[in-house]
Amino acid sequence: MLTAVITGGSRGIGAQTVRAFCAAGYRVAFFYLHSEACAQALARQTGACAIRCDVRDSACVQEACAQAKRLLGHIDVLVNNAGVAQQKLFTDLTDADWRDMLDTHLTGAFLTARAVLPEMISRRYGRIINVGSIWGQVGASCEVHYSAAKAGLIGLTKALAKEVAPSGVTVNCVCPGVIETDMLASFTPDELDALAQDTPVGRLGTPQEVARTILWLADPDSGFLTGQILGVNGGFGQ
Ligand code: NDP
Repeated sequence: MLTAVITGGSRGIGAQTVRAFCAAGYRVAFFYLHSEACAQALARQTGACAIRCDVRDSACVQEACAQAKRLLGHIDVLVNNAGVAQQKLFTDLTDADWRDMLDTHLTGAFLTARAVLPEMISRRYGRIINVGSIWGQVGASCEVHYSAAKAGLIGLTKALAKEVAPSGVTVNCVCPGVIETDMLASFTPDELDALAQDTPVGRLGTPQEVARTILWLADPDSGFLTGQILGVNGGFGQ
């Protein structure tokens, strides 16, 4: 049976990805940080294993990945999805804001990938899917640290894909546009309407739409797809 580890699985895109992989017959473990009740409810509903893990913390990631391996037997798929958003003028960013953003999005993906890759390489099979953002491709005002972290994730994807392709491991990055999740909580209804109007398909995206793309990239038949940066954005920001 195929197995998957999904970070940031307690809410939003990650939770829908957990549902999609479970429905497709994968055995799934997911990481969460603060949303204990959501994580436990999702685990009960889907049969996935919930593991508390802060992806910014190297020791925590090592231990959580080891726990996931014990629970699942091996890891075929890693989805690096955990993320946070923050809007601030560049000149107001503190050292802590900058570090937290880079640690969550970029270092987190590095730590998880480093933890699972040796076994993927020795088994000569693996799928790593990073969740980037349109802002990592085109940049967003007042989200410079977020945009920089996501752009870094795109660089990590392209470089790592080349390094591990001969070992049967693919590495791709899905870049969502504006997707209806808690991450948009700071936007007013008018701002959300404006974002929908700025999206050529005329609406915001759903977490299910991103999850379906991740599932497709994870498929054993997607082995010739690697190093790709795939927008799931309804044409937004292009
Ligand atoms: P949500 O805010 O809905 O969910 C974020 C998830 O990340 C939660 O499960 C949260 O866990 C987890 N998380 C945050 N920090 C950590 C951490 N340090 N360690 C472990 N888990 C953590 O966000 P979305 O679902 O919208 O976002 C998912 C991904 O998609 C992110 O990488 C985001 O940048 C990206 N994205 C989202 C877009 C959107 O419009 N929604 C657009 C482009 C990209 P918990 O609640 O348990 O703390």
